[in-house]
Amino acid sequence: LVSRENHPARSVVRVGGVPIGPDTMSMIAGPCAVETPEQTLEAALMAKAAGASLLRGGAFKPRTSPYSYQGLGEAGLRILADVRAETGLPVVTEVIDPGSVEMVASYADMLQVGARNMQNFALLQAVGSAGKPVLLKRGFSATIEEWLSAAEYIAQRGNLDIVLCERGIRTFETATRNTLDISAVPVAQRLSHLPVIVDPSHSGGRRDLVLPLTRAAIAVGADGLIIDVHPQPKVALCDGDQALMDTDLKGIADIVSLLSPLM
Ligand code: PEP
Repeated sequence: LVSRENHPARSVVRVGGVPIGPDTMSMIAGPCAVETPEQTLEAALMAKAAGASLLRGGAFKPRTSPYSYQGLGEAGLRILADVRAETGLPVVTEVIDPGSVEMVASYADMLQVGARNMQNFALLQAVGSAGKPVLLKRGFSATIEEWLSAAEYIAQRGNLDIVLCERGIRTFETATRNTLDISAVPVAQRLSHLPVIVDPSHSGGRRDLVLPLTRAAIAVGADGLIIDVHPQPKVALCDGDQALMDTDLKGIADIVSLLSPLM
């Protein structure tokens, strides 16, 4: 279902009216985690000013350590819905277990399946039945074939509104949090008709790498970006080291505004 063999034209996925696919460069941006209404609104306004057309924000955080911030849960989803009402930005947010898919879908415009859950097959099937577009992140140890098979689980349930996201894989290199597998973008685009976007924040794990990795993503033909922003990264409860501040967003805004007339 997700293979390009039977579907040669590349697909466009619409999220709350925003297209993601060929000839677009849609940017999803916002805080890694929803912390407070003020922080989420501020991050959303920064993201919008930089050219983002969709808001990201985690209310359920699948953290490696159980002692790390786990998110606000449904209260965080309510904050995201309020910020959507205020900014007009459709909401992309993560769901981490099959039992909460319906509830998360009642707030979200797009359901995110994170790297750690890429092969949670019950979750994939549940989001496939939820009637919302899905952002499927690549597992950090998953091959491209495994990633596409995960997408197939979603598609089998009748949902072809799937966007693939390359977010870096685990390699021997320790200088970066993960290694952005930039070649995965054209490889996945050749194998599948689904749009492929890049997460330059979680791949490098470092603020200074977000702009260069964004350039790489655009150069290789990615269909979009998902970027962490935070009004005060120093006090962020999750992944502050990779979050862009207002001052860093100028570079991203320049790229997005340069590209827009070409799309
Ligand atoms: C995220 O985008 O909030 C996230 C946790 O990313 P990943 O699943 O790629 O680690």
